[in-house]
Amino acid sequence: MFAGMLKRTGLVACLSLTAAGCAVSPTGEKTLLLNSPSQMNSLGSQSFEQMKEKTPIENDARINRYVQCVADAIVMQVPSEYGYTPSDWELIVFKDDAVNAFALPGGKMGVYTGMLQVADNQHQLASVIGHEVSHVLAQHSNARMSQQQLTQLGMAATSIVLADRVDSKTQQAAIMALGLGAQYGILLPYSRQHESEADTLGQELMAKAGFDPREAVALWQKMAQKGGATPPELLSTHPAPGTRIQQLDRQVQRYMPLYQQAQAAGRRPNCERLKPR
Ligand SMILES: [Zn+2]
Repeated sequence: MFAGMLKRTGLVACLSLTAAGCAVSPTGEKTLLLNSPSQMNSLGSQSFEQMKEKTPIENDARINRYVQCVADAIVMQVPSEYGYTPSDWELIVFKDDAVNAFALPGGKMGVYTGMLQVADNQHQLASVIGHEVSHVLAQHSNARMSQQQLTQLGMAATSIVLADRVDSKTQQAAIMALGLGAQYGILLPYSRQHESEADTLGQELMAKAGFDPREAVALWQKMAQKGGATPPELLSTHPAPGTRIQQLDRQVQRYMPLYQQAQAAGRRPNCERLKPR
């Protein structure tokens, strides 16, 4: 009842588009953002530090160079209006067989070596990194956390977050909302709308960077095939591979010209793929 009222209040506020906390996502969806970017960046950094402590890091310089080469090409194409510069992004390659990758508010990126076994080439890896970066640009963690604050934690937790004080309960909620739940035994998938938006923005980013947008379709086809008894970890936080493949396939036509323009302008990434042993 209380949560329902809050939710309705949020909706009404968003319809007016004047109240603090309401925003329009990059693809034009109204969204409720209760937390400031600096708040989200701080949670992103804290969670990233936890990840680095708990998960082994890949030290092979050549593997790091490969993933960094792809990530650099992607973040160079992030439009300035999102408030990120290329040097804001930090990448860690985690030495872990999980087929997974993530990006956190503030520009923290993680790619697992398991993902490098699945992504056949630099273009496919670019489609994953572009997708994750797009979740950050569209502030999906903030949107998801805002929903949680309204529906689960109620106004008390919301006011704690807004007051810039992070207690353990809020931190736990933040970890879930950031999509790192799998590591903590809790799963919180992105919504279908967020997935669709990250696919659209991500495919555009990769094409602008000079990666072949057709390879996004190929990558997600591989991911879908790897489903079954032990689906890739990425799919637990990034659901709906079936509709995703159709959408990415439809969008190829739209983004091929951007890819060709990038090539003509000399943006031809040549990141040497190296599989972890
Ligand atoms: Zn996703």
